[in-house]
Amino acid sequence: MASQEIEALSGALAKLPGLGPRSARRAVLWLVKRRETALRQLVAALAEVQDRLVECATCGNVDTSDPCGICSDPRRDPRSLCVVEDVADLWALDRAKLFTGRYHVLGGRLSALDGVGPEDLSIGRLIDRVGEGGIDEVVLAMNATLEGQTTAHYIAERLEGRPVRITQLAHGLPVGGELDYLDEGTLAQALRARRPVG
Ligand SMILES: [Zn+2]
Repeated sequence: MASQEIEALSGALAKLPGLGPRSARRAVLWLVKRRETALRQLVAALAEVQDRLVECATCGNVDTSDPCGICSDPRRDPRSLCVVEDVADLWALDRAKLFTGRYHVLGGRLSALDGVGPEDLSIGRLIDRVGEGGIDEVVLAMNATLEGQTTAHYIAERLEGRPVRITQLAHGLPVGGELDYLDEGTLAQALRARRPVG
């Protein structure tokens, strides 16, 4: 039987997305065999993340400062706002280096199945941001999943009547495609060919 410490760490790792109890235990054993190298690095990196990373109160990005590096970058176009489901999507889009505006992270997608409603996402904050003015275009960069598209339509409806252009990523995105998994070329293409919602 494994020690309590190993069980506790395995249990904590098994909660991570994509890891089950078996792979968590294997990861723990792998780390224990590399106490002075990989394990030490991991501990340091985790402590760093816990101490230094904060959520940007403006856009929801995760960074070492609030407002985040993107929100406080004067070279970014404040008139263009790209709405994404998760921080991972923001990072994926930003790696593609094609979007020069700012972002808004919803913190998920609408899902009747999982009981996620508009009040569970930062949609109210998005409407407020647009209401404050100074934004010309809102790019809805949801995943090409049913829930992503439902979310995009809901937001487009909520923004109806506001003096902003609402666009959506082109559907060169594979159906069911999640932004985070796309290569940068495909993502850049979808962004470049974005089209009006409706
Ligand atoms: Zn920000």
